[in-house]
Amino acid sequence: MSQPNAPSEPAGSAEFSRRSLAAQAMGGIDPHTRAVVRPLHVATTFVRDPDNGYSSGYCYARPDNATVREAEAVLAMLEGAEAGALLFGSGMAAATAVFGALEPGDHVVAGTVMYWALKRWLREEAPRRGLDLTFVDTDDPETLRAAMRPDRTKLVWIETPGNPLWTVTDIVAAAEIAHAAGARLAVDSTAASPVHTRPLELGADLVMHSGTKILNGHSDVVAGVLAAARADGFWERIKGIRSGSGGILGPFEAFLLMRSLRTLHLRAAAQSAAALDLARRLSAHPHVSRVLYPGLPEDPGHAVAARQMRDGFGFMLSIRVAGGEAGAIATAARVRLWKRATSLGGVESLIEHRASVEGPGSPCPPDLLRLSAGVEDVDDLFRDLDAALRAAHDVA
Ligand SMILES: *Cc1c(COP(=O)(O)O)cnc(C)c1O
Repeated sequence: MSQPNAPSEPAGSAEFSRRSLAAQAMGGIDPHTRAVVRPLHVATTFVRDPDNGYSSGYCYARPDNATVREAEAVLAMLEGAEAGALLFGSGMAAATAVFGALEPGDHVVAGTVMYWALKRWLREEAPRRGLDLTFVDTDDPETLRAAMRPDRTKLVWIETPGNPLWTVTDIVAAAEIAHAAGARLAVDSTAASPVHTRPLELGADLVMHSGTKILNGHSDVVAGVLAAARADGFWERIKGIRSGSGGILGPFEAFLLMRSLRTLHLRAAAQSAAALDLARRLSAHPHVSRVLYPGLPEDPGHAVAARQMRDGFGFMLSIRVAGGEAGAIATAARVRLWKRATSLGGVESLIEHRASVEGPGSPCPPDLLRLSAGVEDVDDLFRDLDAALRAAHDVA
């Protein structure tokens, strides 16, 4: 299906595109056997040279691991990250390492619409660490600008598209606003994936992903990623936090993640095309009051999304059910193909009544169902949801 945003272009100076490089894990082979898949390195420790050095570059597995490094190289390539990428044991471990690198007294501006568990962590933990937090609607650049405190704001944290309303924040504008105030811009790009958006190329300083989501994509690994535009002191501090707090991803998880990254472009293209198709069909559904998806021309975030996303608008959408909260819960209860589960980005399509997960204080409307489009037949996905919406309406 043709999509109304820009097609991808080959990687800047590289001879081959990101898709080609990822498909072959950057062309890495095992030097001993010439196997096309590199071995899984599970060792926790490495032999010292007789002259007391470590000529391999490896000493102990908590700061570093060869299998982790291989997946990090692919992620850095995908994001265009000059300073490289770091893998963590979860998306939350990656995100909290960024806040851990700030100093007491620093001011942070973060989005109102963001991953709920991280917002809760920020509310509970940031004040204990002496951080001063302001939450604003970052999809409006003027609101973001007004929240900045020059010389005190050190970090702007945005999530785009933002969970679970899929509001879009203009990364170019946010970077300009953050930098004008002397702050860094970090982007949680989980819902965009490096296939659709590359925040570092748009001016962001750091990009974060929950690798648990589409990067791994098979609902069998919990992982987190950070990638940086510059190897500065802040990035060194984040590296020190990962090593010191023991937050590195395990080698087996890194191996599975690497295997998944080889098909990332295929999965992202298929899942985004399915999400767009579903969004269009659900927009015309009698029991759906609103579809939230930046790929729809009528979506408030569409113009910015069309500029900063390519090859599709992502695999996540939400619907607001005309029958309200009861109608939404009754619809989720009646699907047969979609799986009622939290998380997103996997090959199996998931449906979730998000307000039930987020609880009190959440900005999520009670009539909202969050949908993660997988790789099943999109006609099956639509028919299943359509039948559930109609059946739920009939009992209401
Ligand atoms: C899942 C998720 C996270 C947290 O990642 P974990 O791997 O579950 O720790 C952060 N941000 C977004 C947008 C997510 O979807």
